[in-house]
Amino acid sequence: MASVHINKVAKAYGSAKILHEVGVEIEDGEFVVLVGPSGCGKSTLLRMIAGLESVTGGEIRIGEKVVNDVLPKDRDIAMVFQSYALYPHMTVAENMAFSLMLKKADKKEVTAKVERAAEILSLQPLLERFPRQLSGGQRQRVAMGRAIVRDPQVFLFDEPLSNLDAKLRVTMRGEIRALHQRLGTTTIYVTHDQVEAMTMADKIVVMKDGRVEQIGAPLDLYDDPDNVFVAGFIGSPSMNFLNVTSGPDGVLSVGKIPLPNPANMPVLASRNILYGIRPEHLEIDEGGLPLDIIVVEPMGSETQVAGKLGAQDVVCVFKDRIKARPGDILKVRPQAEKALFFDKDTGKRLR
Ligand code: ADP
Ligand code: MG
Repeated sequence: MASVHINKVAKAYGSAKILHEVGVEIEDGEFVVLVGPSGCGKSTLLRMIAGLESVTGGEIRIGEKVVNDVLPKDRDIAMVFQSYALYPHMTVAENMAFSLMLKKADKKEVTAKVERAAEILSLQPLLERFPRQLSGGQRQRVAMGRAIVRDPQVFLFDEPLSNLDAKLRVTMRGEIRALHQRLGTTTIYVTHDQVEAMTMADKIVVMKDGRVEQIGAPLDLYDDPDNVFVAGFIGSPSMNFLNVTSGPDGVLSVGKIPLPNPANMPVLASRNILYGIRPEHLEIDEGGLPLDIIVVEPMGSETQVAGKLGAQDVVCVFKDRIKARPGDILKVRPQAEKALFFDKDTGKRLR
């Protein structure tokens, strides 16, 4: 196992700058998720850690060693890809043994390692099958088995669950977490799915356009985002952002509708503000704001309601079932102490 240090790492293809001074500290044994929209540079960063892409600027260290110019095979990492990349003409056992055979490892030792990985992943009954005889989830497990037998310092995963159906994704999420708990190997996991990030990570790195937006524990990012992007990206349904005007006295209003104002925050006076409120932080209250209901979605355990507050879209999530229907007006009140404020021009959090 090892720590991984990513220090001011940049990547450019010709004149196209893909990553800008990315910095991430990953502790020994940590499970870190890189998350962000498609094209933000997650795979590029992971491939640079693996040694599959050159480093344009900055430094990558695995443990104490700078690996910028170290060949992939000498980095002691194992990568699991979205496509699995299994050899179709080899059995499950042969697929898992392949990298060790290349290294001319002792045959008995290889067999023992393959058996141990098969046991961890419940693959014993499938060892003599070929990839075409396996389901998507089983193939995914074989790809993980191939990584496990190498007993690497660091596991790298690039969207390993994207090809699986929704239910299997949830199961495999749990399996990968359990695997990490059992082996304790430092893991860097890339996904565009914020739910995967929230449920799997010790620490999340939120990326956008080749930059790190914020790093933190899942619930810290949820409760205390630094900017509009992180606030909107983490959490589903997304945080509501209301365009709010504030007078010199700091009084807030949406259109003509006044909003509950939290403790006196001088920073809010006389500027364009986004008032951020999570869907579960709106309550039904006779004295509240009039929400013009557009959609009611009863989910059983909760009810989602989408509507308009003046001209602005708002989504609420209520724990209770509600009788209101589309076209009705529902009075809702933001829990003022839960509201977050952002500078509309810069997107930065106002504290
Ligand atoms: P993500 O994994 O977050 O979806 P990628 O790391 O794959 O994003 O890509 C980041 C950006 O780098 C994208 O804009 C992509 O088009 C660009 N890119 C990736 N590989 C190359 C390449 N070989 N040459 C030029 N641009 C590339
Ligand atoms: Mg990618």
